[in-house]
Amino acid sequence: MNISKKTYGFTLVEKKKVAEINSMARLFRHDSGAELLHIENDDDNKVFAITFRTPPENSKGIPHILEHSVLCGSRKYPIKEPFVELLKGSFKTFLNAMTFADKTMYPVASTNEKDFINLMDVYLDAVFHPNIYKQPEILMQEGWHHELNKKEDEISIKGVVYNEMQGAFSSPEQILFRNIQRSLFPDHVYGFESGGDPDEIPNLSYEEFIDFHKRYYHPSNSRIFVYGDGSVEDRLKFIHKEYLEEFSECEIDSDIPLVKPWDKPDEIEKYYPISANEDEKEKTYLSMNFVTGESNNLELSMAMGMLDYILMESPAAPLKKALLESRLGKDVFGSYNNHLRQPFFSIIVKNSESERKIEFSELLYSTLEKIMKNGIDKKLIEAAINIIEFHLREADFGSYPKGLVYCMEVMNSWNYNGNPIQALEYETSLKKIKSALTTNYFEKLIDKYFMNNAHRNLLVLSPEKNLAEKKAEMLRNKMTTLKHGLSEKDVEKMISYTESLKRKQSTPDSPEDLAKIPSLSMDDIKREAEILPMEEKTESGITVLSHDIFTSGISYVKLYFDTTVIPKEKIQYLPILARLMGEVSTEKYHYSDLSNEINIHTGGIGVADSNYIENDDDSTYYPKMIVKGKSVSKKLPKLFELMEEIINHTKFDDKNRIREVIQESKSRREMSISEAGHSVASSRLFSYFSQAGKYNEITTGLSYYKFISDLERNFDERYPVLVKILKEITAQIFNKNNLLVSVTQLEDDYSAFSDSFSTFLEGLRSASKVTHDYQFELSTKNEGLLTPANVQYVSKGFNFKLLGHKYTGSMAVFSGIARLDYMWNRIRVQGGAYGAFAVFGRSGNVFLGTYRDPNLRESLDAFDQMADYYRQFDPEEKEMSKYIIGTISQLDSPLTPSMKGNIAASRYISHISQEDIQKNRDEVLNTSSGQIRDIAEILDAMMHKDRYCVLGNENRIKEESELFGELVKVFE
Ligand SMILES: [Zn+2]
Repeated sequence: MNISKKTYGFTLVEKKKVAEINSMARLFRHDSGAELLHIENDDDNKVFAITFRTPPENSKGIPHILEHSVLCGSRKYPIKEPFVELLKGSFKTFLNAMTFADKTMYPVASTNEKDFINLMDVYLDAVFHPNIYKQPEILMQEGWHHELNKKEDEISIKGVVYNEMQGAFSSPEQILFRNIQRSLFPDHVYGFESGGDPDEIPNLSYEEFIDFHKRYYHPSNSRIFVYGDGSVEDRLKFIHKEYLEEFSECEIDSDIPLVKPWDKPDEIEKYYPISANEDEKEKTYLSMNFVTGESNNLELSMAMGMLDYILMESPAAPLKKALLESRLGKDVFGSYNNHLRQPFFSIIVKNSESERKIEFSELLYSTLEKIMKNGIDKKLIEAAINIIEFHLREADFGSYPKGLVYCMEVMNSWNYNGNPIQALEYETSLKKIKSALTTNYFEKLIDKYFMNNAHRNLLVLSPEKNLAEKKAEMLRNKMTTLKHGLSEKDVEKMISYTESLKRKQSTPDSPEDLAKIPSLSMDDIKREAEILPMEEKTESGITVLSHDIFTSGISYVKLYFDTTVIPKEKIQYLPILARLMGEVSTEKYHYSDLSNEINIHTGGIGVADSNYIENDDDSTYYPKMIVKGKSVSKKLPKLFELMEEIINHTKFDDKNRIREVIQESKSRREMSISEAGHSVASSRLFSYFSQAGKYNEITTGLSYYKFISDLERNFDERYPVLVKILKEITAQIFNKNNLLVSVTQLEDDYSAFSDSFSTFLEGLRSASKVTHDYQFELSTKNEGLLTPANVQYVSKGFNFKLLGHKYTGSMAVFSGIARLDYMWNRIRVQGGAYGAFAVFGRSGNVFLGTYRDPNLRESLDAFDQMADYYRQFDPEEKEMSKYIIGTISQLDSPLTPSMKGNIAASRYISHISQEDIQKNRDEVLNTSSGQIRDIAEILDAMMHKDRYCVLGNENRIKEESELFGELVKVFE
């Protein structure tokens, strides 16, 4: 293929080797106006994404509702939800769609060629030929509609996106960031909520909705990204022949304009809801926000990311330090958002008061001035550059396909007509930024974007009691007025609409239409489970699990210390110890220098406590303190030296620093409770009947949050005891006779590892080991956990081993069926919750849960009725194999080198053998519908145990108070 040559309507515009990601990049322009970037390499985790520019003109959420709706049936695939059918039976490694402030992205990924083509096909058909034109009910279901079941009922508003956004607006941080963006770009695309403001969504009409699709979902407004192995010609041919051929180029005005720069800064106050009985003290967010250049300037984007680390993230960060030391608030963080044409940078103080905003602004500016005058510590700059460079080269994105991460990066400039290939070539920018080691590069950025930038605002987000109630009340009144205004005939009409929508939702797709969705066959899947490399070795009497895996020259080391040497009453100090180590000073290093040293020489060192449950028995478990680190192999001596320093020489004598770390830790827990209420509720649920569950709840769940909150509140008083305990447990845990090691790298590097490791061992304490056997008293409380959120997280479950049953791989198949069939329909489509899941653990612990759920009792009822539904389960063979393939695809999801080492080590600790893994796989593969019906019986017995826990809106929970044994206020 040569430049300017046309292949299947695609003209090659640019072709270039991108050394940074070891790929060949080709940029094409299609006759239909579409642009396509092809990234060719040997990665079998192939990625396809089509992205449209979708600038919103209001906050009714059109881009977001459209994102959901196009996946609800299309020309070639006229079923209710092709997306769900793909979730059930594809080999996808990623399948989703995302709405950004100005674009909508539809990405899929798979390691299987046939599957990849299927996924592309379904997605392209969905975006270009969706059924929304023929079926207005899709908007009702995914967007919003009035629901009225009976004449006497109140009218309510339902809809998947409507509820999703209610949930999104339940977390204070989300409210903060959404307000920051909107306030910096008034009268602009970014001044609207592309996801939809729940107050505005019900103003959306079907005509507006359709018009938006007509305007923007055209190839001329699209950018297509294709990544991985496979033939370029084949991809072009497929996309052209099946889809683009029938379109011709047209003019579409979707350019994102630059916002008019401000000539003076602004100030603004916004509010977020807290519970009626919560204290307003120390609940305000102070934020200073700056619009900083354009995102297609790659060097600037990279540099601003580093500046965030330098000023706000590193323990050595001078601005963070100054803000914390002033006690303006208890948690301080920065944020740099470059998913917009004009990125913005925020400096945020949490747990403050609105009266302190002037103090905040003055301190911020005087500190920045000082930093400019004295210059940034060069070691800190070196640390920032090194750690970001390390991550760029490592390219370990966990379970995210690499290609998808590159796609996101590319879009940050491509969406604004920038060159997508250049967006991947980071070496040039990195080289330029490295000049900062000898020049005032970053100081100049501070000067330009913070000191002399009028396009900024000071946004204060304050708590307001009863804000949620007021809103709910207003909505109720509106609905009452609406109903009063309706004639009897109108009321009947609304009831019949509600009925017909429900009927449509619960009518199954015809088998002929279902069969149109392409799927794999059982022959496409491997029978054998993958063997993760692991060799058990011994070094000076210590067991070392060595994983011989290609890691691009990086060594991943994990030290697991058994923590059952700690008596039961002290286990809540484990997470605190983990949090402090590496964040407070050691004998040799001040904590700032320690962090610089770590990031200059290694890819990071971290300490965390974790718990591993015995294979299939939740009454036995292995809690560990894990010290982990990674570096290139020639830096292993330094890595071990720093780990040794942290393990043996951490000092617990800096009261203010310890206070800061504990405050931050408590604040971050709060954020995760608001974001992931389902984990809090399920963890609490397991604590009612499982020993391991109880341990986990105490060390990670709501109990732990209560513990650290109390510690933070009474810090001065409790400090002496805290220090005493921290010293005591440090000495008990870090003991040679208590250690298991795991290392992931190529075998060639093993001697480099063992040399450094032996030196390390010499410094490690050796003492006799006394372990404790924890026994907790368990009791079922069926709690309601009260928060100001607009939604609920409902969970119900039990342990089937207590009922005499054993784990089988078929349970994993069952949980997929439950999630994508019954629960998807009852809880998401009909109930309006954003998500629902069924989790069956090897240990016997099971829970059914909902995520961002507008309902409560209805969801518990739905759980109870599920067994009945599956008693009749009798699917066609093809349907059954679909579920089996979907389950296998989860077992086979691609793992990065470090993940392989981690999983192998955790199986070793939990005594899960390769035979167990193979047996599980065989059981999945051989699952019959009869087994599914049997599991339904087991589920029924578990539901009859009536163990549940709900976290969510306090008024809603109080209305149903007879359901609960106890009500617990989550936040104080
Ligand atoms: Zn959504």
